[in-house]
This record gives sequence, C-alpha cells and structure tokens, in this order.
Amino acid sequence: MAGKLLSIGECMVELSQAGEGLLRKGFAGDTFNTAWYARACFPADWQIDYFTAVGDDPMSSDMLSMMNAAGIGTSLVIRIPGKTPGLYLITLKDGERTFSYWRDTAAAKKLADDADHLRAAIESADIVYFSGITLGILAPEAVDTLLSEARRAKAMGKMVVFDPNIRPRLWPSKEYMLKTIEDGARASSLALPSFDDEKVHFGDKDEQATVARYKALGVENVVVKNGPDGVTLAFGSEPVIHVPAVKVDKVIDTTSAGDSFNGGFLARLVEGGTPAEAAAHGAAVAARVICHHGALISPDLLPK
Ligand code: ADP
Repeated sequence: MAGKLLSIGECMVELSQAGEGLLRKGFAGDTFNTAWYARACFPADWQIDYFTAVGDDPMSSDMLSMMNAAGIGTSLVIRIPGKTPGLYLITLKDGERTFSYWRDTAAAKKLADDADHLRAAIESADIVYFSGITLGILAPEAVDTLLSEARRAKAMGKMVVFDPNIRPRLWPSKEYMLKTIEDGARASSLALPSFDDEKVHFGDKDEQATVARYKALGVENVVVKNGPDGVTLAFGSEPVIHVPAVKVDKVIDTTSAGDSFNGGFLARLVEGGTPAEAAAHGAAVAARVICHHGALISPDLLPK
C-alpha cells in the first residue's frame, strides 16, 4: 500500500573538522535523519516528506536541494524571507566529540506558526513523525499548535510517531520539558523512547518501567531502545517482548543510532512486518550506521 510519511522538525547545517583548519559542511538533525533512513528503507511507492521552515538564503536552498537529491519531498517546507537555518559545529578533542550550536534564531523555530499550513500538511500524510527536539525548539504557543494537530491526526486514525529525544539544553525548565514530552506522547500512537534518556529524566528503573509509563499516558505502541541491549516492545495488547541489538565489533560513531533505528523500524512495519521483525530490521540498520562516521550514511551501505 502506497502512502506518505511526514517528518516534522529541524534540519541544521553541520560543520565538522576536515583537517588543516578546514570545515566540511553537511546537513543533519534528528527528524531529518529519520526521514533519510526512512527514504532509504521504505517501499519506493511511499512518499517521504520533510516539514520544516528555512530561510531564503543560499544555505537554505542548498539544504532543500540536498533533500530533493535524496528523494525526500520538500514541497511543504516553509521559506521565511530574511531567516537562516540553525548550525552546529562538531569539535574533536582527544577522541571525544563536542557539539556547539547556533540555533536560537533558526527559521525552523517558526515551523508551526502557520496553523492552517501545518494542518493541511499533516492531513496529507498517513504517518506523522516528530520528536522532543521538534517540541523543544518551538515557542509554547507553537508547541500547542503542533500538539493539537498531532492529537487531531491521532483521532483521525493516522499513525502518529513520537521520539522523545530529551535534550535539556533546549528547554527553559525541567518541569516544562517533562510535561511537554508527556503531552507529545499523549498525542502519539507509537512512542520510540531511548532508555538512557528516560532513566535520567524520568527516573525509570528499567525498560519495563518506561513501557508502563508511556502506556499509562495513552500510547498504544511503545518501543524502548537501549543501545547494545536491544529494544523492549509493547504493541497494543500483545505481550511485551525483547528484540536484541545486532552485535557490532567496532563502533565508530553512534550519532543517529536511534534516528536510523526509527527509519528502518517504520519501513518494515508499513511493509506488513510484525513489530518484532520491524525491530530486528531497525537494529540491523542502526548497527550499520554506527560503523561509519556521521549522522547520514549512504543508502548503499544499509542492509536490504
Ligand atoms: P539513541 O541513539 O536514541 O540514544 P540507542 O543508543 O538506544 O538510541 O540506540 C538505538 C539503536 O541502535 C539500538 O536499539 C540498537 O539497535 C542500535 N545500537 C546502538 N548502540 C549499539 C551498539 N553499541 N551495538 C549495537 N547496536 C547498537
């Protein structure tokens, strides 16, 4: 069955060290990374669209060209005159990566300001995907707009997918962050949290506790990712199951592990796979991604 996945969030300019004082330019951002892996893994008759706001500058144009070249639709992207995209710089020191961000004035912060446009975009999709980072960059009124459209989509029977991706530095206070993450979960039918984040911020003692907490918020389907320890799945009224990770001998860079898992997982699910099969595929995709540098690896390197 053909369909359309709409991923909503912020894609940033990524600058990384290229040696001799030079910087290499790329583009990445959690919801975009998932769109990238969704495009690589979904059936060809599925449309994968990205929803964000960018500026009218050359860098924004480059970003949209890159998305189009990857087969990701950008017709719904809002262009705001005079604005620019957010940017982050990766610095390597003694093998440790440090991230510096310039995103406070990014165009993407305005992605939900036009409620009618957002509603039409969401209505056009079968699967709607957003994250705690999407919510974290928005002003409170824009959070309300996005969440009310997500709730509406859920009520219409669309698959609404939420990755909490908890990033405290994006939020004005811990209380507001946790409350809004919970609101994001309530608005979704499938939550894909990472146990490391949930343990730290919600105090969950194990993956089962994370599953129980999201279920109690009214999320029908929950997949808790836990790095090399695999995932814990609770789909509908089916029993909770565990699906192992794929063993990786030498991890090179875990950036985008969760994002790529999500893309591979959703792809196998829309193809009619069971949740366990979908999780195994997500794990195989993520295992390949973490063997390479950077958030986005070539689709040729991914398992079929
Ligand atoms: P996030 O990147 O969101 O923190 P995780 O670290 O839980 O998410 O990783 C997501 C998925 O990536 C895991 O469920 C697993 O399939 C895979 N993964 C992550 N780290 C490893 C690892 N060291 N070995 C094998 N698979 C891994």
